[in-house]
Order: sequence, then C-alpha cells, then structure tokens
Amino acid sequence: MQIVPVNEPLIGEKELEYVSEAVRSGWISSEGKYIRAFEDKFSSYVNRKHGITVNNGTNALVLALRVLDLPEKSEVIIPSFTIISCALACVYNNLVPVFVDSEEDTWNMDAAKIQKKITKKTKAIMPVHIYGHPCDMDPISKIARKNKLVVIEDFAEAIGSKYKGSKCGGFGQISCASFYANKVVTTGEGGMCLTDDQDLAERLRKLKNLGFVPGKRFFHEELGFNFRMTNVQAAIGLAQLESIEARVRKKIWIGKTYTKLLKPLEDQGVIRLPIRKGWARNTYWMYGVVLNEKKGLKAAEAMKKLEEAGIQTRPFFCPMHLQPAFKKFSWFKKEKMPVSEKLYEYGFYLPSGLALTEKQLCRVCESLNTTLAI
Ligand SMILES: *Cc1c(COP(=O)(O)O)cnc(C)c1O
Repeated sequence: MQIVPVNEPLIGEKELEYVSEAVRSGWISSEGKYIRAFEDKFSSYVNRKHGITVNNGTNALVLALRVLDLPEKSEVIIPSFTIISCALACVYNNLVPVFVDSEEDTWNMDAAKIQKKITKKTKAIMPVHIYGHPCDMDPISKIARKNKLVVIEDFAEAIGSKYKGSKCGGFGQISCASFYANKVVTTGEGGMCLTDDQDLAERLRKLKNLGFVPGKRFFHEELGFNFRMTNVQAAIGLAQLESIEARVRKKIWIGKTYTKLLKPLEDQGVIRLPIRKGWARNTYWMYGVVLNEKKGLKAAEAMKKLEEAGIQTRPFFCPMHLQPAFKKFSWFKKEKMPVSEKLYEYGFYLPSGLALTEKQLCRVCESLNTTLAI
C-alpha cells in the first residue's frame, strides 16, 4: 500500500546547484554569500528592512524576546493553542507566558479574551498565525498600543499569508519565521528575525553570534548565543525563494481543493473545515479538520483508521495550559480553555506538503469519506 505522507517537502534542482556551489566554495559555516542574499530576499518578500538568520524558528523567538531586555518575570501574552516554542522562548528568558484561548473558527488567539489577561507585568504579546490563517491583527495591535506592549509576531506558519492585504511577517516590532522542512520555505533547520529597527537588528546580529562586538573580536559586552545559520542552509533557502510565489500558490490550491472535495462532509455536520475570513489570505500551511464532537468520534480514533488506509495525519497542538512540562510552574490555576481543549481532542491535519499530488489529495478525501461515513 502506498502511503500518503503528511508532509513531503518540495526541493528542486536549483537547491542542489546552490548547495554544491556553497560546499565547493569552502564557505560551509555561517559566513558566505548565501546568508546575506537569503536574508535580503526574504526580508524584502515580507517588506521588512532587516532579516537576521538564525538556526531555527524556536531560537528566532528566544532571540526576539531576549533583545527586548524585559524585567525578570514580565508577562508575555501567547495563545495556548500553539507550538511549545512560543512558551519555551518566554521561559528561557525568565519571562512568564500567559495563555489565551482560541477563536472557534480561525483557531487563532481570541483578541476578545486578551484584555482581561493584562496586568502591570504584561510587557509583550505574541500573536501566532495558526495553520496559515492570519490573526485578526487590528484588535490585537490596538490592545498592544493601549497597554504599551511589544508585539513579537510568530509567522512560522503563515509565510505568504495576508491580513487585510498586508503580508504576515510585517506586524511585529520583531517578526519570527521558521524554515523547518514542513514550512513554506525550508532550509532543513533554520529561522529568521525580521524588523525595521536598525538598532534591534544590530543587537539581534550580535546576540546570535556569541555577542561578538563588530570590529572587536573576542571581546564580549554581554551574553550571546550561537544561533548561526550555515551558508549551506541559506543556499537551500535562497533557491526556495526563487519559487516562493509558486509555493504559496500550491499551498492555496491544496487548501481550496480539500475544501471543495470535503464540503459534503462538512454539510453533513461530520467535520469542520478551515475557514477564510473575508480579510484573510489563508495559505493553509497545514489543512486541519475538526470532528463534530456530537458524533462521538475523537481525532485519535479517526487518525488511526486513516493510518490503516495509508493516510498519514498529525494531531492538533496540545494546548500549553495542559502541558506536563509546565505543571511545576504556578502560571495558571486549573484554568479551562474550552476552545483549544476541544481543538486538541477533535482536530487533526491532513497531508499538506508542497509535493502533494492531486491524486494523493483525492485519495485522502476518499479515505476520509469512507472513514467518517455516517
Ligand atoms: C515551526 C514553528 C516554530 C518553530 O520552528 P523550529 O524551526 O522548528 O524551531 C515556531 N512557531 C510556530 C508557530 C511554528 O509552526
């Protein structure tokens, strides 16, 4: 039986060509022409002045929070329904993540639930565009302005997505991307911090490189990290950027085709499909479906049946407020977040990689129809 993989990256000849060039040149660590070329091309794609590559998306978030120099135990508002990287970035910086529940329809952090989480200690807010659908940025930015919060945008899942015509990646004082293998642009492992602020850009560059002071080697005024991306990775990234428009179009095609083929299941009340708000360009980074809890079937069981049919899927995020790793902290008092808890129990995502073929996509839909038939 042929397996339909949940993600197969799309890597072309151009990537091989640039990688060979990088390797042959001997510039295989973090200096070499591909680094700046990749930073420049990606930052101009999202209309930002500065792009600073790092070795993964998690560390892009760690670095972004680090350069803010927030007082210890400051609070950062983040969605509960997200990847653990967002919360870890807070913890690693001695900051406290404060979790907010999701919206029923977009699965993003619910702007209406933010205000009551704000205290005197709140200093930053981290919107995350989940599975490719942009967050409703106007109310979030308004709350940030009113409460003088720094916005750190995590657009790892929303490369190419737009909010009211503006690309995601343009909404934070610092915006963070990941180039993991399942992202719209990949470098294998990798990430980037983007900003328009020259001073922040310089500090980000310094701190990702062990805190080296430019022009003064082996002299360190503060504690840095080694978060450097290699020239070989940037070579892959640059090649990927040459096909970025086609990549984004393919993602949108996958999303729209799934929606068209699975609409009957939604009409029967069996599942809920991703939506696209009128102001959104959803790039469907991962195409998620949510089972109707009234039908009694949970995501884990449906996923098991699909696996037996050769269809790989992945569960939705386990919300941060349910993570055993955070139990020892006193951040939340047995708080309930019904929307993200339900998403966790009933949601999962379908094969959505850039190399997905129409034939594979149709097979996924047929298997879903058989598995979920009522
Ligand atoms: C992938 C991802 C990250 C982390 O990226 P890594 O490169 O795997 O460290 C961060 N945030 C979100 C929302 C992601 O999807």
